[in-house]
Amino acid sequence: MADHFSLRLAASRMLAPSVRHMAFERSDGAAFAFVPGQFLQIHFNYADGKPTKRSYSVATIGAGDGSPVPRIEIAVSYVEGGAATELLGNLTEGQSVDASGPYGRFCLMEPDANRRYLLVATGTGVTPYRAMLPQLAVLMPARNVSVALVYGARNESELLYGDEFEAFARENPRFQFYACLSRGARAQPRPHDRNGHVQVALEELEPDPAHDIAYLCGNPNMVDQAFALLKDAGLPIPHIRREKYVSSR
Ligand SMILES: Cc1cc2nc3c(=O)[nH]c(=O)nc-3n(C[C@H](O)[C@H](O)[C@H](O)COP(=O)(O)OP(=O)(O)OC[C@H]3O[C@@H](n4cnc5c(N)ncnc54)[C@H](O)[C@@H]3O)c2cc1C
Repeated sequence: MADHFSLRLAASRMLAPSVRHMAFERSDGAAFAFVPGQFLQIHFNYADGKPTKRSYSVATIGAGDGSPVPRIEIAVSYVEGGAATELLGNLTEGQSVDASGPYGRFCLMEPDANRRYLLVATGTGVTPYRAMLPQLAVLMPARNVSVALVYGARNESELLYGDEFEAFARENPRFQFYACLSRGARAQPRPHDRNGHVQVALEELEPDPAHDIAYLCGNPNMVDQAFALLKDAGLPIPHIRREKYVSSR
């Protein structure tokens, strides 16, 4: 059930040259209940006073038991001339914004009986998967399911939370993290790095309609292209779950 509340910026840091990690706390001190994969909306007015809102996926890593979290973390990618970019890019610690949520159903589903998840993202589209890590840590051994996170970025500096995903992969052998770099390899490439777009790793993983469920999140063009690839591989449409980061003006 969505709730309206004020959020105060508690901390922030740059994740990449144009992506800001922002950690908020509710101004009323309440904890925030959400299911990993959900998003919130930030409400504000244009310069002419007209109200508008933008959506941001919750990136917070919770306890993994569904208990509410004290901080709502999001990663905001700066868009040239963007209204929310202007607001969130200039917000300083202690300042507040209006928000509502949680929303959305881009979440792991209890009744799934697949053998593998293919989690695919570009840019800030990786944030729902960061929030899902505690759930995946429980689910992988419990259901003997494996997970391939296929993450597309132009170069190493744009791999958001890359070190966290690498560390999670080291601790969880059923989890693999593919970094697909389209405009330049790392100075020291890692075993699961791939040159090119996410489709390169997806094809290599040989999507299997009998065993795979895919999640696609981020740039709408990537989502459409990966959807076509997975559909051609025979995955049924209910097993290709999508979240497109379109502007909600
Ligand atoms: C469910 C959902 C979850 C989302 N989660 C996130 C998230 O976690 N992090 C995040 O950064 N964004 C996320 N978005 C996108 C976000 O809601 C805004 O659309 C984005 O921040 C741009 O808003 P803006 O007001 O700065 O730009 P706008 O004022 O909306 O747009 C300014 C101009 O830039 C263009 N534009 C808008 N978005 C983009 C883009 N992504 N790339 C290039 N040009 C663009 C517009 O067409 C317009 O011309 C999500 C969107 C959805 C629907």
